[in-house]
Amino acid sequence: MKNEELKNRDLDVVWHPCTQMKDHETLPLIPIEKAYGIYLEDFEGNRYIDAISSWWVNMFGHTNGYINSKIKEQLDRLEHVILAGFTHEQVVKLSERLVKLTPPNLDKCFYSDNGSSAVEVALKMSFHAHLNDGITKPLFVSLTNSYHGETIGALSVGDVELYKETYAPLLLETIQTPVPKDMSIEAAEDAAKEFEELCKKRADEISAIIVEPLIQGAGYMHMYHPEFLVLLRAICTKYNVHLIADEVMVGFGRTGELFACSKANISPDFLVLSKGLTGGYLPLSVVLTSNDIYAKFYCDYNKHKAFLHSHSYTGNALACAAANATLDIFENENIIEKNRVLSEYMGQKLKQFSLLENVQEVRQTGMVAVVELKGYTAEQRIGLKVYEYGLKHGVLLRPLGHIVYFMPPYIITKEEIDIMMDVALEAIREL
Ligand code: PMP
Repeated sequence: MKNEELKNRDLDVVWHPCTQMKDHETLPLIPIEKAYGIYLEDFEGNRYIDAISSWWVNMFGHTNGYINSKIKEQLDRLEHVILAGFTHEQVVKLSERLVKLTPPNLDKCFYSDNGSSAVEVALKMSFHAHLNDGITKPLFVSLTNSYHGETIGALSVGDVELYKETYAPLLLETIQTPVPKDMSIEAAEDAAKEFEELCKKRADEISAIIVEPLIQGAGYMHMYHPEFLVLLRAICTKYNVHLIADEVMVGFGRTGELFACSKANISPDFLVLSKGLTGGYLPLSVVLTSNDIYAKFYCDYNKHKAFLHSHSYTGNALACAAANATLDIFENENIIEKNRVLSEYMGQKLKQFSLLENVQEVRQTGMVAVVELKGYTAEQRIGLKVYEYGLKHGVLLRPLGHIVYFMPPYIITKEEIDIMMDVALEAIREL
């Protein structure tokens, strides 16, 4: 009853993200009453395994007791304060920890409140750092098939047609260089060569290249070898082009290490983090950069040299408390090690998908497991069919077109992995 009532009230007033709203004439919305662990529960007691961590943000389950308690503690002390001219304990502590945990030479933290905004910050900072050196470099490079968010700047460096095409006349001019075509080392070398050719010709115009390290999320979970990052790092240094690592999706353990750049042993000039930063609780994002870059902005007041970028909720105290609690769990519970066992188990289970006729390929990096389907057209909307089958059987899967993937919270058990992946297997069999 309550389910029905909320659905109707919702459709009267809410415009949902990334949705053709007319679909909801036939596809029911699901009102969630409560959530706990990996489960979402509606008002009629139906529950769903959150196999996609609620758009890749949730790390340690919903209404996690520890994170809840830390936010509640913070709530009674300080909810938010302007971060210009003021500071607070949670933001200082979080920044100290991030500087320590991220790759070397990332020394300063600049906060905003979602992944797209943080991408904008990194792009502006990169351009401005070169400008403060007396060089104007108006171009950004990104990889083919990349995704960096939906605001105008972030969309401009993206390359997924579905999101970008409509807005093309509004966007900045950017250049795309090929992403490695598969996970082999040869593909990494080939793609790096192409980027170097571009740098040879146009490095004096290019501020930065922005990449999603190891996994292109919204780009159909395409994966590549860490060697590509090693080669990119060297090319960027050689040609004075910044390397921006957008770890909004892959950060906080998704690739098997806390940060994907650590898998390649490289330090980017800018590291962009969001999503898992607060354990999936509150909107927060951060750009880390080096003392060298920071120093280019540090001088007696000069409105052209200072980074005069701001967001109202920058460094929100509740979000920082959630982030500190999330890092506590990573530290205290040996999560990265435990994830190796879960990741191995998902890898075993993935094998059964490759036996199906309509499966093109299975692939995996760390805690992200992917099944790529073949033989369907976009019009068939098979992703939607898998989604509907999943919901009917208690699992929230949200395929990207013909890509079915699993990115669960790290507290999932082997038994729950069985349920999650078996339901997907049946869904694919039934297509
Ligand atoms: N970068 C990457 C790699 C992402 O996956 C996303 C979101 N899926 C973003 C940026 C944008 O983040 P947000 O949705 O918080 O703006």
